[in-house]
Amino acid sequence: MKKNIVWMDDVHLLTVIIDPINKLPDFHQEEPVLFWEKEHQEFSISFLERIDDSTVQLANKEELPIGEELTLLWGEMKLPVYPRAIVRTKWFDTHFSVTETELGAICKDDATTFSVWSPTATALTLVLEDKRYGLNRNKKGVWTTEINGDWHGFPYEYEVTMNGVTQRVNDPYSKAMLANSEKGIIVNFSILDQMDNEQNRPAVRNLQDAVIYELHVRDATIHQESGVMNRGKFLGLSETGTTTSNGFSTGLSYIKELGCTHVQLLPVNDYARVDERHPDKQYNWGYDPLYFQVPEGSYSVLPDRPLARINELKAMIQAFHQEGISVILDVVFNHVFIMDESPFEKLVPGYYFRYQPNGILSNGTGVGNDVATERMMAQKFILDTIDFMLHEYHVDGFRFDLMGAIDTETMKLIQNRCNAEDIPIMLLGEGWELPTALPSDKKATSFNSKKLEGIRFFNDQFRDSLKGNLFNQQDTGYINGGGRFLERIPHLMSGSSLEEYGDPFVSDVNQTVNFVECHDNHTLWDRLQLTNSQADEQTRKKMHQLATGIVLLSQGVPFIHAGQEWFRSKQGDENSYISGDSINQLDWNKREQEKENISFVKALIALRKKYDVFRMTSKQEIRRRFHVMETPQPVFGFTLLGDKNDFSIYINPSNHKFDLHLPSSGKWNIAVTNHTSNRTEQQEIIGEYTSIDAYELVVFQKMRKPASVEVDGLSAGTGL
Ligand code: CA
Repeated sequence: MKKNIVWMDDVHLLTVIIDPINKLPDFHQEEPVLFWEKEHQEFSISFLERIDDSTVQLANKEELPIGEELTLLWGEMKLPVYPRAIVRTKWFDTHFSVTETELGAICKDDATTFSVWSPTATALTLVLEDKRYGLNRNKKGVWTTEINGDWHGFPYEYEVTMNGVTQRVNDPYSKAMLANSEKGIIVNFSILDQMDNEQNRPAVRNLQDAVIYELHVRDATIHQESGVMNRGKFLGLSETGTTTSNGFSTGLSYIKELGCTHVQLLPVNDYARVDERHPDKQYNWGYDPLYFQVPEGSYSVLPDRPLARINELKAMIQAFHQEGISVILDVVFNHVFIMDESPFEKLVPGYYFRYQPNGILSNGTGVGNDVATERMMAQKFILDTIDFMLHEYHVDGFRFDLMGAIDTETMKLIQNRCNAEDIPIMLLGEGWELPTALPSDKKATSFNSKKLEGIRFFNDQFRDSLKGNLFNQQDTGYINGGGRFLERIPHLMSGSSLEEYGDPFVSDVNQTVNFVECHDNHTLWDRLQLTNSQADEQTRKKMHQLATGIVLLSQGVPFIHAGQEWFRSKQGDENSYISGDSINQLDWNKREQEKENISFVKALIALRKKYDVFRMTSKQEIRRRFHVMETPQPVFGFTLLGDKNDFSIYINPSNHKFDLHLPSSGKWNIAVTNHTSNRTEQQEIIGEYTSIDAYELVVFQKMRKPASVEVDGLSAGTGL
C-alpha cells in the first residue's frame, strides 16, 4: 500500500496514510493545512477518526477541486492529495460525466479533433508524429485539441499525469491500431471502404426465427483441409465455393448450406495473448479484451497495416450478408485483460471498475476485475461501441459475455439504441448470477428477465437437463441418463416460460436461447465420452443426435456450436481458450466423415424454418398449439398443431424399443428421424400405431386439411 499519501475517498472524506515510522501528529496540537498551490487557496479540515497508527480520516468542509495538485501540510510532513474512492461517488458522475460528448480522434480531411475524458489527470499531452501537443481541459474533465492537417493513418498516443506519475496511454476510443496494440491510429472513415447500404443486411422478419451458429474466426478455416486461401483470417471466412480436397463444401459456403440464419462470432475486437505478427505461435478464444473498437490484428492478413483489418472485417461481414446470414458479435464488456494496463484505469484510476464496500476490487467475473458498467462514462463507452459497430460495420446482433455482470439499465439503453436500426437486432447473453458488487436486482440475469424484454438468455437449465450438471463431469441428463429429468422436458421444449410446466427460466418464450454446447466447457461429444464410456460409439452418436434434435425442435431460439453437427471434439479439453489449433480448429475431415449427421441437422433446421409452429412467439400460442402426449416412459412425445400441418415428435433416450400411439389416425409422413436406415422402407405411417427405436428421435407430420395439398411450402389453390 502506498504510504505518505492522502486519498480523497468521498466528497468530504480524506484518508491519510503515513509510514508508521513517522509518528502521526496530534491533530489538535498540529492542525493540518490542505493547500492548493496554484490558486494559493487553503481548505478547512476537521478530524474524524484515527483508524490505526498510520491511518487517520479527516473531513474537508468544501468540495475539493479534482485534477489539481493539492497538498496536505501536517507538522513536518508534506503529503500529496489524490482522488481515490471519490471517483465512484454519485457526486463524481454528476459533476463530470459527459454522455453527449464525442470522444476519440475525429478525423476530417483537413483537421483532427482529439478528445479524452480524464477529470483526475493533472496534465495530458497528445503525442503525434513525435511532436507533443498540450490539450485544453474543460470543467468536466474533457481534454481537447484540434490539429490541422490530414492525419488519416497516423499513429497517436497520450501522456497522462495522474497521482504524480506520468505514463503513456492509448486512446480507449481507438478505431485502429498498430500491430499488437502498440499505438492507436487515426482513421478517416469517410475515405475507407464503405460497406454497402443497409439493404444488404439480411432481412429478419422476427428474431424468434433465428438459428444461431457459434463460430471462432480462426477455428473456422485454419485446418489444412478447409480449402480456403486465407486460413484463420477474416478473409478466410469471406471466401465462397471452397471445398476439402475431396470436394466437400467448407467455410462460409458450408455454413450457408447448413441453413443457420445467424453466425455468432467469438470476439473479433482486439484481444491479448496472440502475437499479431506471429499468430501461429499462440491461440486465444478472444476473451482478453484490449481495445473494443479495433478489429483483432491476428485475423488480418496485414497486421502491420492498421487500416487493412478494418476493411477485412467489413468484407467478412458483407460476405455473410451476401449469403443471407446475419452476424452477431460476441462482446466482452464485463472485464478487461489487465486492469492496471488498461487505458480506462490509466485515465481515471478506480472509476471504470467495481469495488466492494470495503475497498477491495470486485471480481465476480472471476478474471480479476469487473467493469462498472453502471457508471455513466463506462456505460457511455459501451453504448458508443455498440453504436459504432452498428453504423460502421453493420452487424446484426450482440452476444454479451457474462451479461449477468452488466447492469439492467445499460442493457436497456443498448436495446433502445438497437431498436433504432431498421432490422431487428439480436441481443443475447449469459445471464448468470455472479458475485459482482452490484445489487442482484440490477444485474442483467435471467432472474431479472422480466425487466429485459426482448433480450435473450442462454438457458443453462436446458443444457444441464439434457446432458447433466456442467460442474459434475459424471452427471447425466435426459439424453445420456436413460431419460433422467423427463419431467423437465415439457418445460424446456415449450420455451422454458410456461408456469404450468415448472418455474419459468425466463418470463417470455422470446427470451430463451436453447443449447447443449458452446465454446465453453466440454463439447457434447467429449462429455458423452466421460458420462457414457460404456456405451458404444454408435449409441453415443444417437444420444448426441437426440440433444441436437431437442435444441432444434424446442420453442425459443436454438443455438448450435460450430461442428456440433459433426460431433465436434476438443479431445477432452474442457477449457481450450488458449489450447491452440490442434484442439480448437474445425476439422473439415470430420465434415466429410459425418455427412450423414450433417444431413440430419440440416433437415431439422429446414423443418424449423419452414413451419412457424416451431417458432412461436407467445405463451398463449404455445398453450394452444403445444400438447404433451402420453407416452411410455422415458419416451417424451408432444404434438404441435400447425395451421396446415400437425407434428408429432417423439424422443426415446433409452435402449428399448417402444410402441407408440399417435394422437390421431391418418397418414403420417416421417419428416425427420435419426434412424434413416431403419425407416427407409417406411416413409409414412397409415393409421395411428407405430413404434420408436432405441435412441430414436422422430418427427411425424400430418396434413391437417387433406384438401389443401402442400407442394414446396406453397398450398395448392392459393393462386401462387
Ligand atoms: Ca490483439
